Amino acid sequence: MDLSCTDEEEAYRARLREWLAATLPGLPERPDPLDWPARRAYDCGWQRRLYDAGYADTHWDASPTQRLIFLEETERAGAPYVGANFVGLLHAGPTIAAEGTEAQRARWLPPILRGDEVWCQGFSEPDAGSDLASLRTKAVRDGDAYVVTGQKIWTSHAEVADWCELLVRTDPEAPKHRGITWLAMPMDAPGITVRPLRTLAGSTEFAEVFLDEVRVPVSHRVGEENDGWRVTMVTLSFERGTAFVGEVVACRRLLGELARTARKNGTWDDPVLRRRLGRLSAEFQALWRLTQANVSEAQASGGVPGAGGSVFKLHYSHARQELYDAAAAVLGPDALDLGRDWTLDRLSSLSYTIAAGTSQIQRNIVAERILGLPKGR
Ligand SMILES: Cc1cc2nc3c(=O)[nH]c(=O)nc-3n(C[C@H](O)[C@H](O)[C@H](O)COP(=O)(O)OP(=O)(O)OC[C@H]3O[C@@H](n4cnc5c(N)ncnc54)[C@H](O)[C@@H]3O)c2cc1C
Repeated sequence: MDLSCTDEEEAYRARLREWLAATLPGLPERPDPLDWPARRAYDCGWQRRLYDAGYADTHWDASPTQRLIFLEETERAGAPYVGANFVGLLHAGPTIAAEGTEAQRARWLPPILRGDEVWCQGFSEPDAGSDLASLRTKAVRDGDAYVVTGQKIWTSHAEVADWCELLVRTDPEAPKHRGITWLAMPMDAPGITVRPLRTLAGSTEFAEVFLDEVRVPVSHRVGEENDGWRVTMVTLSFERGTAFVGEVVACRRLLGELARTARKNGTWDDPVLRRRLGRLSAEFQALWRLTQANVSEAQASGGVPGAGGSVFKLHYSHARQELYDAAAAVLGPDALDLGRDWTLDRLSSLSYTIAAGTSQIQRNIVAERILGLPKGR
């Protein structure tokens, strides 16, 4: 697919750039990262502004080029990050857009785009992380509802979410990949207990979620009963293939700032550090090209990213960790002056190679699905 910009797309870029230049200076600071309710309000407020200005539909309706322009321009201008809207905008929403019925798309997509409703992801369980298909949370059909009992863990933003993309076991007798169902669960349903987990940085970004006979209407099932593994693959394709794309642009911006700081504070004179920054610059440039290739391929094959997303996720998460290491080398003790957001980002970078599937799992996927090597198990 041709990803070069048409005149119309360049006009879109110019309009967006102008709107960002006029809008961003008046925007308040993002609240403290330890205050998730305030962050939610801020992130949803930003999403609402995008919606009102006509820029929210880039996630589902726009052309791939337009979507990349949106990411490039918002990141370049330093616009707020999707934050609490990550799951809704970047993988629950796209899954519903691809797999949901018309009624489900009409119910769930507009509130995500307007910033009215926040989603979380209830996939991982205490004994089902990398081996996600081992999940045990069960759902038993009772009339027009599923009765769900079990436990989820590492559920990011559960504390402030309205909806959860939830995986449940609907057929305990079936082979483990065949008895799973994908449900949209309202987080205010009776029987749900959210217990926030405090990270080493002090943030309660994720939580344990306990489910005690929670009733979820059958109409909230996305895809067929027991066909949830296939729907899950769609969700994970978006999560690994496109969800982190905007952050590549953010990393390139940070790298540029680091190079400027290095020139000012003298660390640029260190050839080893200079080489490190140069290598990272090449890495992020390659990741952007890979993104374009993945987006183009996804568009050509029906909109869902393929296994190439795992190549992206693998390289992106390592490069981003290295970026924060390099930043610490450039900034030295001055890093302490950059505030809590910076400290949290640096500490969070340790988790990039685990969240959304560990690097080992991405390597397995690349080996089996792209290189065609035999399965290890
Ligand atoms: C910041 C963060 C946010 C998260 N947010 C969410 C969320 O919102 N919702 C959600 O559902 N989950 C979330 N997770 C959970 C995440 O998806 C899991 O942590 C991840 O899938 C790994 O599972 P695990 O922790 O159970 O590790 P395990 O599966 O126990 O793995 C432990 C180690 O063994 C390795 N390993 C396991 N199996 C294999 C294999 N077959 N081949 C090679 N190596 C293997 C792993 O790579 C890893 O190094 C989040 C995690 C983090 C860190």
